[in-house]
Formats: sequence, C-alpha cells, structure tokens
Amino acid sequence: MKKYNFNAGPSILPREVIENTAKQILDFNGSGLSLAEISHRAKDFQPVIDEAVALIKELLNVPEGYSVLFLGGGASLEFCMVPYNFLIKKAAYLNTGVWAKKAMKEAKLFGEVVEVASSADANFTFIPKGWTCPDDVDYLHITTNNTIYGTEIRKELDVNVPMIGDMSSDIFSRPVDVAKYKCIYAGAQKNLSMAGVTIVIVKDDELGKAPREIPTMLNYQTHVEKGSMFNTPPVVPIYTALENLRWIKKMGGVEAMDKLAHERADIVYSEIDRNKLFRGTVNAEDRSLMNICFVMNEEYAELEKPFLEYATSQGMVGIKGHRSVGGFRASCYNAQSIEGVQALVKCMKDFEAQH
Ligand SMILES: *Cc1c(COP(=O)(O)O)cnc(C)c1O
Repeated sequence: MKKYNFNAGPSILPREVIENTAKQILDFNGSGLSLAEISHRAKDFQPVIDEAVALIKELLNVPEGYSVLFLGGGASLEFCMVPYNFLIKKAAYLNTGVWAKKAMKEAKLFGEVVEVASSADANFTFIPKGWTCPDDVDYLHITTNNTIYGTEIRKELDVNVPMIGDMSSDIFSRPVDVAKYKCIYAGAQKNLSMAGVTIVIVKDDELGKAPREIPTMLNYQTHVEKGSMFNTPPVVPIYTALENLRWIKKMGGVEAMDKLAHERADIVYSEIDRNKLFRGTVNAEDRSLMNICFVMNEEYAELEKPFLEYATSQGMVGIKGHRSVGGFRASCYNAQSIEGVQALVKCMKDFEAQH
C-alpha cells in the first residue's frame, strides 16, 4: 500500500532527491567511488558546496554581506553558538515553545536574557502579540515555526532590533526577508535534507564583536573563513540538500513552495473545522502551514486510538501528535503532496462516516 509520510522530522523528501542521492552513494559522478567514500577535499566535492551555497543565496534572495554555512551538531548546537557569537550584553527571546525555551536556556550562560513574551500558560497554543522589544538588546531570537505545537510566524515581525531566527521547520517554505536577521539557522532534517547538517546564514560584519574567547569549532568566523571546510563536513547530507535545493528551484522556488503550503494546509484545516470528530489545537490566525495539530473533540475522545489505527491502516505514517500536545500532527513540509493531504482528509471523512 502507498505510504504517506507525515513525520515531523526526520521527514519526507522528494522521491527524486532520495533517488539521485542513492545513485551518487553508489557511484559519485562516474568516479567509481561512493559519495560516502570520497574526501571532502576532493575536487568533485567543492562544486557541491559551491552550488548549494549559491542556490540558498538565490532561493532566499540573501543580500550581500552574508555567509552560508553547513555545520554539524543540529539546530540544538546553534542554541549555544548563537549567544556565544552574538550576545554581547543582553538578548531578547520570544518564548513560543520547547525549542525557544531550549535556546533561551543556553543564552542565559552568556548574558542577560529578556523574555519579551510567552504563551507557556496556554501550552503555546498561540504566538504572543502586542509585546515590545527593548531597544538595547543585541538581537531578538524567534522560532519561526513551532514544530511541536503547530504555530508559526509566517509574516516577518516588525521590530526595531535585528533578529535571529530558528527556521528549522519552515525554511524554504516561503520567502524570507534575510536583511532583518543577524543569523538564520535550520537543522536540515525537517524541510531540507537528512539529519546531520545544519544550515546557518550569518551576517559577516556582526561576527567578532562578542567580548569572549570562542572555541574554534563554535566560532562562526572559523567556518566562514574555511567555507564550511574547517573540518570534515557531513558530505552526504550536504549532497542531499543540494539535490533538494535544485528540486525547489525547478518547482518554482520558495514562492511556489509557499503557494503549495497554503493549498495543503487549507485542505487539512478545512476538514478539521468541518469534521464533527476533530478540532484544531491552536488559534486560527497562528496555525502553522507545516505542522498541523488536531485532537478529537471531547465527546469523541475515546476514538483517538481507533482513528490512529484506522489512518495507519490506510497508509498514513507519523500522524501521532507530540506527547506535549497529544492527538495528531500532520507535518506538511515542501515534499508533501496534495495527494497526500487528500488521502489524510479521506481517512478523516471515512472515519466520521463510520461513527
Ligand atoms: C527539530 C527542531 C530543533 C532541533 O533540531 P536538532 O537538529 O535535532 O538539534 C530546533 N528547532 C526547531 C524549530 C525544530 O523543529
């Protein structure tokens, strides 16, 4: 039976991206060696990095003066690298969930941290509004898409300070105004590649200002100067990212990804709102287009497990909600097809008809 992958991360990638990576793992560029066996210094690999960097700059319209890096350690390592490199005295954080909280915890090791707003009291079911950010902070950190709770900041915030964005789960799903950011980072395994690489976009002239010694590997400057080749970068995940970036470009770029994201999310949210069995968990205006969270309506609570079983029997994979929200989460990243979300909606309709 056909499987529809709704995993939150690692997650769905376009089939051709997987196939092209598989071919290169068997025989890299006709060299007779595997992509997994060659040196990152091999002359064939530099063009991979170069093209990936160029595509990221093109797709996100990155202005002059920014560098694109491929690092290890996941988005979680960026939680400490960001303040290590950018926190001079004081930083502001918008607390929209688990990942934001983890980022904030690391920042507190390096200086004063102001939590500008939080929706913790409401289990992060909305993006806080109407707050102000102090003028004297080094940056405001935001998590643009809250993978666990299904909320998203899809429109650039209008703030008076430069931002730092954790875009792990919505990067390349929409246009971004990179000039508003000192730094953008994203673990690749949600919407770009397989696990093992993190992309980081840093504003070059903001580096070197922090009043502390930074260990070599944690210093963005190291990786800027060496073009992500200071040490061995994760070559296979970088290659997969390149294939995916080519796919995004071929599909019409981030504008096309944005349009598709809206189409997919409309299909699923409309059904959640229509179907008597289900309800969405977050404020309608803050609904994520990437991670769609929903639960059984109270009077049908006992149908949660049966629905999960039914949907699984129909080929749906990974729709069980995160334990801190419960219910269901349908992750609809770039590679999720309209057919996939229609199949999920059909499950919801059929299950409703059976009850
Ligand atoms: C998954 C995720 C992370 C953590 O990513 P790792 O690569 O596992 O460290 C951080 N932020 C967001 C928004 C995420 O979705």
